[in-house]
Amino acid sequence: MRIQVLNVVIFLFIVINKVYSYQYQPNLPVGGIFEGTDENEEIAFRVAIDIVNRHGRLPYTLVPLTGRIEYDDVINAKTGSILDHTWNKPFQALETTCDLLKDGVIGIFNSLSEDNSNTVQSVCDNKEVPVVQTMLNTEHERDCCSINLYPDAEVLARAFADVVKRWQWESFTIMYENQNSLPKITEMLKIYNTTGHTVVLRQLRSSSSGDFRLALKGIWRSGQTNFVLDCTTENLGEILKQAQQIGLMTNKHKYIIINLDMHTIDLGPYQYSETNITGLRLVDPLKNIVKEAAEGIYFKRQELGFRTDEMDRFIGAWKLQAKAALIIDAIMLFANALEEVGEISAASILCNTTDNWIHGDSIYNYMKTVSREGLTGLIQFDHFGVRSDFNLDLVELREGGTIKVGTWSSKEGLNISRIAPEPEELDEDSLRNRTFIVIIALTEPYGMLKETQVKLEGNDQYEGFAIDIIHELSKLEGFNYTFIVRADKKNGDYNETTKEWSGMIGDVINRVADLAITDLTITRKRQRGVDFTSSFMDLGIQILYAKPTPETPSFFTFASPFAPEVWMLLTGAYFGVSLALFIMARLCYSEWSNPYPCVEEPEYLINQFSFRNSLWFTLGGLMQQGADIAPAGFSTRLLTGFWWFFTLIMVSSYTANLAAFLTSEVRELPFSNVEELVKRADSLGIQYGAKAEGATEGFFKNSENALFKQIGEYMTKHPDLMPKDNAIGVRKAALGSYAFFMESSSVKYEISGSCNLTSVGNKLDEKSYGIAMRKDSPYRGKLSAAVLKLQENGIIDGLTRKWWIEKRKKPECPDEGEAGEAPPLNLTHVGGIFWVSVGGTLLAFALVFIELILHTLKKYGRDHQSCMEEFTEEIKFYFKFKGMVKPVQGRKADAQSVDSKKKLGTAEGTPVSIGFTPEIVHT
Ligand code: GLU
Repeated sequence: MRIQVLNVVIFLFIVINKVYSYQYQPNLPVGGIFEGTDENEEIAFRVAIDIVNRHGRLPYTLVPLTGRIEYDDVINAKTGSILDHTWNKPFQALETTCDLLKDGVIGIFNSLSEDNSNTVQSVCDNKEVPVVQTMLNTEHERDCCSINLYPDAEVLARAFADVVKRWQWESFTIMYENQNSLPKITEMLKIYNTTGHTVVLRQLRSSSSGDFRLALKGIWRSGQTNFVLDCTTENLGEILKQAQQIGLMTNKHKYIIINLDMHTIDLGPYQYSETNITGLRLVDPLKNIVKEAAEGIYFKRQELGFRTDEMDRFIGAWKLQAKAALIIDAIMLFANALEEVGEISAASILCNTTDNWIHGDSIYNYMKTVSREGLTGLIQFDHFGVRSDFNLDLVELREGGTIKVGTWSSKEGLNISRIAPEPEELDEDSLRNRTFIVIIALTEPYGMLKETQVKLEGNDQYEGFAIDIIHELSKLEGFNYTFIVRADKKNGDYNETTKEWSGMIGDVINRVADLAITDLTITRKRQRGVDFTSSFMDLGIQILYAKPTPETPSFFTFASPFAPEVWMLLTGAYFGVSLALFIMARLCYSEWSNPYPCVEEPEYLINQFSFRNSLWFTLGGLMQQGADIAPAGFSTRLLTGFWWFFTLIMVSSYTANLAAFLTSEVRELPFSNVEELVKRADSLGIQYGAKAEGATEGFFKNSENALFKQIGEYMTKHPDLMPKDNAIGVRKAALGSYAFFMESSSVKYEISGSCNLTSVGNKLDEKSYGIAMRKDSPYRGKLSAAVLKLQENGIIDGLTRKWWIEKRKKPECPDEGEAGEAPPLNLTHVGGIFWVSVGGTLLAFALVFIELILHTLKKYGRDHQSCMEEFTEEIKFYFKFKGMVKPVQGRKADAQSVDSKKKLGTAEGTPVSIGFTPEIVHT
């Protein structure tokens, strides 16, 4: 029992002592100096110290103390613009180191650039404070206290050279970004000098905006397909992306990337390109300690308030770069050495004294002798304190990601489990996994930049009809694509002098792009240079012209409803009918009436239809007003009826058409087809043109048709009227007096977005758009079939609707009025009614003669004359057209008495309607 109590007491004592010693164990500061804006290294440094403290194997707590070297701008002396940034600031490095030493750090960790790290190293060597470096350094001579965990440059270069050798390249190009790559590649060059291979060195200089394309284009032009690439991890993704855009990432190209972090960048976009990409890595993301460290970094980032991505908790190991892994290994190594050394104490050391730290030398020596497994593999040093013995993984980019295909070790060299890609059933025609560089032009609505607040990158920046078609095709056929843009919007023309193709067609032929898509017309000429898929849109050339502005109504608008010839005929009809009525009334017995109805046997008869009265009566009918006189005979009534019917139709037609003319102003185009345009262009001062070097220009210039040829010649003579792109032509057309020949698809698009543009005439030809690719491309058949499928499925129709109607914002246009286009009524409209009235008049004449004959027959016998005599006498009298007094019962009227009666009748106020002068006939 007593023993048990004693055990408990001892146990409690140990626990309390542990807790107390943990609580009160001294803090020893550890320094870290960082440069640049990347916080990952510093976070890794802190994580590693946390791990060491947690293990509690040291009798003290390590406390991280850090310093950061800010960058300076590199200024262009001439322009004053910022060219670059530099962290090369030894004086600041010196100050930071001295500050840390003053704070009593027991070791300094860094991966600074050369001048800065040399400064830190020389100060610490002097003060005998251990320095642990984690950057590529060719320095072999080390004084007392510095050690470098980064694999030795010379040995590393050997590793890369071994890979290159194993690939058995006849020739290759080394692409490097700056002089930091030289230690790695100089060794490679030395090896190759002895074997006589052709090795070309190309520096990847970028513009200030990070554009490497100029350098990459030069490399592409060299035709080389084997590359060794070295650049910073930050730029690696961008360089590969731009290489793909230039056409340097096809199945013919092979890359060895000598950046140990290749596997940490997103290689997804290239995994289907069949480009052979190989690299070496120092950190194996599948190792448990790597995963744990990555998780630690994830939580530390959260703790320090940095942005974290939930996924990083699980896949962080794949993003753990060598420099972060090395700094963790460095801390672990340092902690091991501290364990070996045992009790130490920190001391504040001032740079301006001769003081040094007493434990530094022994910690350094322990570190040099340690051999341990870390995140970066086996860690051990040669007697110079250099890590010349290390292992690397050989990795290759495959569909699905990077996989380990072998190892390299300084002792055994390269050990590859597989070099060549697995022999797969390669379907030559299959588009799956291929990556196409697709060249587009920013021509609406085929290709456009998306309008967004945020800056978009890559393919996401573009939208449009052609973009959607490529997207749909890629979904069908499973290929990848990268868009590049032809800035000058030239679709392509053949230059007879240079014998070269320009524009997008030239880009396809010169392998800048694999496919070209925009409003690219399939022409016979182009088909000699490239192949096209089956067409995805049909169209023809049309004229785009400004809508005429409303005309000011003319003074004589009231006359517009009838064409001039109708007015003339109407006037003729009026006089004709009036004359006919006058004659007919004379011939018509019933029109001679007794002026005194109470006198049974009047001396004379009167006729209301004098010529003047006939004109007045007809006019009354025409004006639909009527007159006080009215015909009494059947024939005259028939004539009147037909006249009234005629006037009814004419007046109603006039009224109806007049309404249309008065309610809208007539708008007329100066020409209605291409013939009229060419004929009237000079007199009306209208100019015309088409897109320079486009298919439309080609159509006119190569046409056999005389009219089109004439247009082609005009275009050659007026290059100033040939805009570089459609948008300029459209703007010019909208200003007026300029007819722009354009393809109907584009004309339709422009009209649907504008109030003052219209198309004139019919299409002049029939053609279509297609996707261009190099001659005899193996994928032509597949792509053509896919385009047809899109058409059959109605997808292309849907896309046309989307870009031409739904996405096209039609402006609010002033109402044009439906009735505005009513043409003047011409003879074809009203000719029939004229003929009806002519027929009616003739019929009336026939009737009047029948009436006369009947009347003569009635009188026969009364005056003992023969029937013929009677009839002849009557006719003679009527056709004398002399006086309006007719003798009754066969007595010949005495001209004098008739005249005197006429005067009398007039003087005495003959009982006739007021305003009418009746003709008087003695009976
Ligand atoms: N589609 C034409 C071409 O492919 C450009 C526009 C035009 O010429 O009207 O060249």
